[in-house]
Order: sequence, then structure tokens, then C-alpha cells
Amino acid sequence: MSWERTMFKKYLAQTSPEPMMFEPVRAEGCWFYDRNGKKYLDLISGISVSALGHCHPAVVMAVQHQSRTMMHAMVYGEFILSPQLLLARKILETLDAGLDNVYFVNSGSEAVEGAIKLAYKYTGKRELISCYNAYHGSSTGALSLMSDTYYSEGYKPLLSNVNHIHFNKVADLEKISTSTAAVFVEPIQGEAGYLPAEQKFLRALREKCTATGALLVFDEIQSGMGRTGKFWAHHHYDVVPDILLSAKGLGGGLPLGAFISSQKIMATLSDQPILGHITTFGGNPVCCAASLATVQEILEGCLLDAVPDKEQLFRSQLSKFGIERITGKGLMLGIPTRSFEHSKKVVQTCLNAGLITDWFLYETNKLRISPPLNISKDEIIFACEVIGNALTGDIDKVFTTA
Ligand code: PMP
Repeated sequence: MSWERTMFKKYLAQTSPEPMMFEPVRAEGCWFYDRNGKKYLDLISGISVSALGHCHPAVVMAVQHQSRTMMHAMVYGEFILSPQLLLARKILETLDAGLDNVYFVNSGSEAVEGAIKLAYKYTGKRELISCYNAYHGSSTGALSLMSDTYYSEGYKPLLSNVNHIHFNKVADLEKISTSTAAVFVEPIQGEAGYLPAEQKFLRALREKCTATGALLVFDEIQSGMGRTGKFWAHHHYDVVPDILLSAKGLGGGLPLGAFISSQKIMATLSDQPILGHITTFGGNPVCCAASLATVQEILEGCLLDAVPDKEQLFRSQLSKFGIERITGKGLMLGIPTRSFEHSKKVVQTCLNAGLITDWFLYETNKLRISPPLNISKDEIIFACEVIGNALTGDIDKVFTTA
């Protein structure tokens, strides 16, 4: 056994009793390689991060250039840093005119925290609303938005001013009132098993928020950056949020998040008190350079246009194994399994066969697929062959496929 495998449980804090113990030592394109040189197709992009796969030349070049030029400076609100400006301009060009101001942070959870603070400060109200089965992050504010007490109970007291509505249930919007500061929604619910919002739900939600003065926050931390076939998932809908959250794929593999809103709303961060949100690393120049290269590649290559065909290929290949009722949109797909035990077994079987998949936090009877956007047709066919055989139980066939 390698030194790394032996020390993994001793030196590093563990988050589950049975870790996968997968040990990649190198990655390129859509593939990981272990220390024996065995290759594994990455179908989760760690998670929904590596939109361009691993070590994309344009991203590597941008990181090399920026790290030779200037690696770090005070990042928030005082210094003029061109990597931040170029990235902010590029991102804002993709958005509705009302979203015209960016605050860069380190992660998705920090973007959520920023949005909570912004909503409190701008509206002067304190009630927050989120959806049942939403996932918005692991920091205590973000954890407070979670309805699932299995994950939050041990960390109480959390924020007590949070109420929940059912995703896609228009009748529940009655719970939004003039006391509501903000409503947090994922346009495609992630950990609930990749469930897209319905158009009528998001439209009614927008109307209710406008009528009550609550800020509408779209968490596109997982669904943004082209994952659904449009640069932002909310572009599939005719609805614009007051605050948009991004992270994961935004950094092109480096840590970067953002909360995006209007200049008017953001102005509250610099007044009474000043320094309304500060960060040591959020918007680090190297991360911004990696992000800009990634955003440019997604927007200027043909990646977005190809996503619907790739989704269709996953669906048609899997249907050959009788696998239907796949949820999600674009390259964010949830594949039904029989039980959590079955999901775990399939993930392990796929891993042995050279394919990285995953399960979801709340939806136990599904497999998660969130590959790099530049996955090829042949790679999708290989992936579906392995998943199809693993799911339908022909384990021997799976091992010979690898
Ligand atoms: N929101 C959503 C929808 C997410 O999927 C995640 C991460 N899984 C987060 C927030 C939190 O992001 P991070 O892990 O970067 O804090």
C-alpha cells in the first residue's frame, strides 16, 4: 500500500466513515490517472467545476502568465486589479442590464453569505426563505438555508429566521411577505437530484418578490458556467434575479466565487458600516485569470451549442439499457437507481471500470452525472456502456468494458 493511502486517514480530516480512497495523481482532458497509470473518465468534474476538463491549455497558460506577473494583492475594493476588471466585464456582458456589479469571493458558501448580508442590509428585513431540499453550502449561514435537518441538526444554533417553500409549488409562494428579505432558489436543484424549476414557478416567484420587496437570489453555483447548455441556467427562463451567485466552474479549477447584483444594491456594502464584506483572497488575480480564460473558452468555442446533443446522446445511449426517467438539463443529469445501497454499489463498480460518478446528498436513488462540457461523443458512449451495465447488474460485462 502506498504511503499516501496509509496516511490519508491519519493526517486528513475525514468526512465519511467509508471514503472512496480513489487516488488520482494526474489529470488531463476528461481523464484522471492513478499511480499505476490506469485512466478514469471524469463524469463529475469535481463537482461541476472542471467545465473545460483538466489542465486545459488556455487556462494553464493564463495561470502561468498571471502567476509570473502578480500573484496576490489586497483584493477587495481598494486596489485596481485588471484581472478582476476584465473578468467582471466579461461576466456582466453575459447578464441582463440590471445585474451590473460583481463582488468576488472564494467559494459558493461565501457567495451565499454575501447575498444574505446584502439582502439584510438593502431591505432592512430579516426573514429568509429557501426551498425544501435546497443546498446552498456548508458555512453556518448557508447551512441555515437547508431544510434537511440530518445535515444541520448537529450544528445548531443556526439562523432561526429561515422559512421553507416547496420547489415548483406556486401555492407556497404565499409564504413570501413584506417581512421577507430574500428568497434563495437554485434554477436546477442540485442535491435534490438535478431537478429543473418550472417556468411558471420562477415567473410567479419573480412577481411575488417584486410585489413584496424581497430580493430574488438565484444560486447558480452549480448550474451556471454553461452546464445546462446556456451560460446561465436562468437564461432558459424568462426571469431575472436581483442577486446571482456563482462559484464552482467559475474559477476554471481554482477557487473563485461571486455574488452579482445591481450597483444600487451593492452600494450598501460601502456605507454604514464601510467594509460591509471583506475577503483576503476572493478575486485573487491568478484565480480571475483562470476564470477569464475559462469563460472565454466556453463563450467563444462551440461548447454551449454542443451541450443539448451531448445530453441527448447520454439519454439515448442509456435508454438502450432501459434506463429512462433521467432528470436534469444539459450536462447535469440524474440517473435513477433502486436504492442508496444500489447507488453506492454502482458508483464503486463504475470506479473499478474506470469511470468516476457520484451520488447526491438528498436524493439517494440516483446517480450524478456532471462531466466536463468538452466531453467527446466517444467518451459519452464509453460512459453509458459502463453505467448501463453497472446499473442493470451485468457486473462482469462492466469489468471487460474498461
Ligand atoms: N450552492 C450550490 C447549488 C452548490 O452546489 C454548492 C456546492 N455543492 C454550494 C452552494 C456551496 O459551494 P462551496 O462548496 O463552494 O462552498
